[in-house]
Amino acid sequence: MKARVLSGIQPSGNLHIGNYLGALGNWVRIQYDYESIFCIVDLHAITVQQPPDELRVKIREIAGIFLAAGIDPKHSSIVVQSMIPAHAELAWMLTCITPVGWLYRMTQFKAKTENQETVLDGILQYPVLMAADILLYQAAIVPVGDDQAQHLELTRDLAQRFNSLYGDTFTMPKTELPVVGARIMGLDDPSVKMSKSAKGAGHAVALLDPPERIRKTIMRATTDSNPAVDFENMGPGVRNLLSIYQAFAGWSDDQMRSHFTGLRYGDLKKQVAEMVISRLEPFQQRYRQVAADPEYLETILRQGAERVTPIADSTVELAKSRMGLYTGSTVR
Ligand code: ATP
Ligand code: MG
Repeated sequence: MKARVLSGIQPSGNLHIGNYLGALGNWVRIQYDYESIFCIVDLHAITVQQPPDELRVKIREIAGIFLAAGIDPKHSSIVVQSMIPAHAELAWMLTCITPVGWLYRMTQFKAKTENQETVLDGILQYPVLMAADILLYQAAIVPVGDDQAQHLELTRDLAQRFNSLYGDTFTMPKTELPVVGARIMGLDDPSVKMSKSAKGAGHAVALLDPPERIRKTIMRATTDSNPAVDFENMGPGVRNLLSIYQAFAGWSDDQMRSHFTGLRYGDLKKQVAEMVISRLEPFQQRYRQVAADPEYLETILRQGAERVTPIADSTVELAKSRMGLYTGSTVR
C-alpha cells in the first residue's frame, strides 16, 4: 500500500507563483508516488471574512487550477474541505487537548493579528483545524511551503499528545519542503512572504495573470542599490528574483552563477519575466479549457468527496471511541 500524501490551499485570493513553487508544483511531481489527497480548504479561508459569492467562485477556480497544473483526478482526490464534516468534528476533539499557549506562539498567528483590534478565534484555532485535516486522513507526508513548517510541527505535537492520552490513533506525519522555492517573497517587499491575502498590485504574480501584467509586476520588483547581479553581495529582492528563475528553470546553483553574474538588474528582470510567462503559458491554456466545463469540475469535486469520506469517517469514529464519545458500539 502506498503512503498517503495530503496538502491544501485556501481559496482566499488569487493563487500566486509562491503557491505553485512551494506547494502545487510539488504535488504534481510526487502525486503518483503516493495515495494523494489535495484539499481546497475553505474552512480555513473563512478565518478572514470572505464575500460569499467570491468564495463560491474561488473554490471552483482553485479546483480548475489544480487540474490545469496537472493534478490527475483519476489518481488523486481533489477535495473541498467543507464537503466533509469530519474535518470540523476532529478539529473540535483536538481543540480540547490543545494548550492555548501553543497557539499563541505560532508566528503566523502573530503576523496575521498584528495591529488588529479584534482578534477572531478562528485565526487562533487555524493550526488545530490544519492538524485535523492532516490526521483525519492518517497522512504520512505533507508537502507544503516552509511558512507551514511550524504548523506541521504543531500537528505532530498534537498527534503525539492524543496518542499518549488515548492510545495510538494517528499516524505521525512528516513534511516535505521543496529544495528551491519553498519561500517566495513579495516582489514589492522582499522582507515578507508572497501571500494571496496581501494587498497591492506589485506584490505577487498570480498564476492566471496575463503576460503583460506579469511583465509589469516583475519589472517593478524591489531590488537593491547595486547595479548588477553579484552573488557575493546581494539584497533579498534580487535573491528572490533569482530563486523564482531557478525554481521555474530547474537550474543548478552553478548554472545560475555563470549565467547571471554581472547581469544588470533591468536585464535580470526581463529574463525572469520571460521565464515565468513561458512556464505559465501552457498551464493557463489548460485552465481556460477546464474552466469552460463547470459540470466536469462539479463531478470531480463530488468524486473526490466520495472517495475520501470513508477514510475521514473511520478516523473520526476511532477518535470518538478512543475519547469515550458516543459511537453506537462499545468496541475499543
Ligand atoms: P493566505 O495569505 O490566504 O494565507 P497564502 O499565499 O499564504 O495565502 P495558503 O493557502 O496559506 O497561501 O498556502 C497554500 C500553500 O502554499 C502552503 O503549502 C504554503 O506553504 C504555500 N505557500 C504560501 N505562500 C508561499 C510562498 N510565498 N512561497 C512558497 N510557498 C508558499
Ligand atoms: Mg497562508
